[in-house]
Amino acid sequence: MNDERNGSKSIAILGSTGSIGTQTLEVVRNNPQLQVAALAANSSVEKLEAQVREFHPKMVGMWTEKAAEDLRIRISDLDVKVVTGMEGLLEIAVLPESQVLVTAIVGMIGIRPTIAAIEAGKDIALANKETLVTAGHLIMPLARERGVSILPVDSEHSAIFQSLNGEPGNRIEKILLTASGGPFRGRTREQLAGMQVEDALKHPNWSMGRKITVDSSTLVNKGLEVMEAKWLFDVKLDQVQVVVHPQSIIHSAVQFVDGAIIAQLGMPDMKLPIQYALFYPDRRPMDGKRVDLFELQQLTFEKPDQETFEGLKLAYQAARQGGSMPTVFNAANEKAVALFLDKKISYLQIPELIGSAMEQHSVIKNPTVEQILEAEQQTYEYIAGRISYGW
Ligand code: NDP
Ligand code: MG
Repeated sequence: MNDERNGSKSIAILGSTGSIGTQTLEVVRNNPQLQVAALAANSSVEKLEAQVREFHPKMVGMWTEKAAEDLRIRISDLDVKVVTGMEGLLEIAVLPESQVLVTAIVGMIGIRPTIAAIEAGKDIALANKETLVTAGHLIMPLARERGVSILPVDSEHSAIFQSLNGEPGNRIEKILLTASGGPFRGRTREQLAGMQVEDALKHPNWSMGRKITVDSSTLVNKGLEVMEAKWLFDVKLDQVQVVVHPQSIIHSAVQFVDGAIIAQLGMPDMKLPIQYALFYPDRRPMDGKRVDLFELQQLTFEKPDQETFEGLKLAYQAARQGGSMPTVFNAANEKAVALFLDKKISYLQIPELIGSAMEQHSVIKNPTVEQILEAEQQTYEYIAGRISYGW
């Protein structure tokens, strides 16, 4: 949805101070055709103030009232509306000036703003995979009905999206979803038991937010991405095959019904999928290191070890059960990762908590947004209960 008169495009970013958010703003910096209509963050007031002064949005959101008050004082010399809480995120999502909503917040908090933006006819540049994992059955049909595009920002899904360019209809036989394997690739369960927060935060190829970095080490991230791929590309779970590819050069591939495989290769740099989503179907120049095949010499592939990295196995299980189960999987993981980062539980207690939260849940088929948020809350309460009983 380009503005045909001057080729410019206006975007709003939820989560502008995070890893994806700041890289999106780098893309904006390098592309004068992009304008920023609105920005939102949780509580990073200083960073948001600097972004406001550089990118001149019309509206900004802070999750907490306290942070919003602080920001209002800091930018009182500017004509910028400061909004708060969920109401604020919803107001930003439907802002008439913006054409694309970049969802770069973490977690299921993104569901309602994403739905509101689609209803208002905005295209979505989607990084916030938790939204599709838990509410894909609501979001994808709504997007089709409203004629808006869901443009993947996640590197693997962008690669799949790029591999599908120009292909007629759905001729996918299989999606080959690549995974770096994370920092603990090749480790045994016994070795994993002793892993500390510092170890889990050392990703070999990508620099990302803390939660997704831990998710990459447990393969929960890949599990979430399997579900994300199922919704985005309308395929069955069995058509999504995870391939461990430690070099992170092939960002994913599609095998078509005639056996041809088309892949997208590149250096591990999120700015490429972000820029691609913002300018689709165009490609714009981008600086940066290029893949040098001679330097690489070889690309390698392995099967994922689902017995050691139970996160992936549990994700397939949750996806097969469907309905509200992916929400429980996701919410249990969010809580467990937060507890692990706070050093309240050990590394292997992450999949253990996810598994036990899933066991105690009775699936609701086709949950509404309210039921999804209720299942999330119940899962949080279940885990809080487990922790208070002597973990
Ligand atoms: P970060 O933790 O780096 O950033 C999260 C952002 O969301 C911050 O700007 C944070 O603000 C903001 N935020 C958190 N809670 C709220 C809230 N309640 N209201 C408004 N803003 C909020 O995360 P990432 O950038 O790593 O990840 C964002 C999403 O993108 C996730 O869903 C992740 O799975 C996905 N993704 C990330 C990739 C990456 O390379 N990082 C790759 C592929 C997908 P504050 O600074 O104030 O806390
Ligand atoms: Mg990814």
